[in-house]
Amino acid sequence: MDRRGPPHDQDIIVCGHTRCGGIAAIEDGVHENYIADWLCIATGAKEAADRIAKERGLSREEKLAVLTEENVKLQIKHLRNLALIKNMHAKGSVPRIHGWLYRVESGSIDVLVDGQGGMKPAAMKPAAPGVGKRGSSATKRRG
Ligand SMILES: [Zn+2]
Repeated sequence: MDRRGPPHDQDIIVCGHTRCGGIAAIEDGVHENYIADWLCIATGAKEAADRIAKERGLSREEKLAVLTEENVKLQIKHLRNLALIKNMHAKGSVPRIHGWLYRVESGSIDVLVDGQGGMKPAAMKPAAPGVGKRGSSATKRRG
């Protein structure tokens, strides 16, 4: 969460990324360590991706892309239902929640959910191996 300036000036970004090991684990049903916990909160995204893939006859890669996007949207829904966020609404301090997709291949970011006002993604360069520790650790938490 980015806390700057007046109460309304808050942005929360849920950022998925391509080539995500966590997303592949959701698809493949890996049940290890923290991934199992993560699978629980991503169940709805898996169901949506399964349905869409069946309807459209998607390849595995296409389905993983759909699953990545559905998961960002689902985690935003989860965030909006958190007591923390609801309390912020009650106090008139409404955070903007953005859903982004970082494309590892190109370094570009697509806006999946427009949180309105404020944050706009800037193009990032794909990190070279061993460079950008902060970015890679944030990415790792998501798998
Ligand atoms: Zn990932």
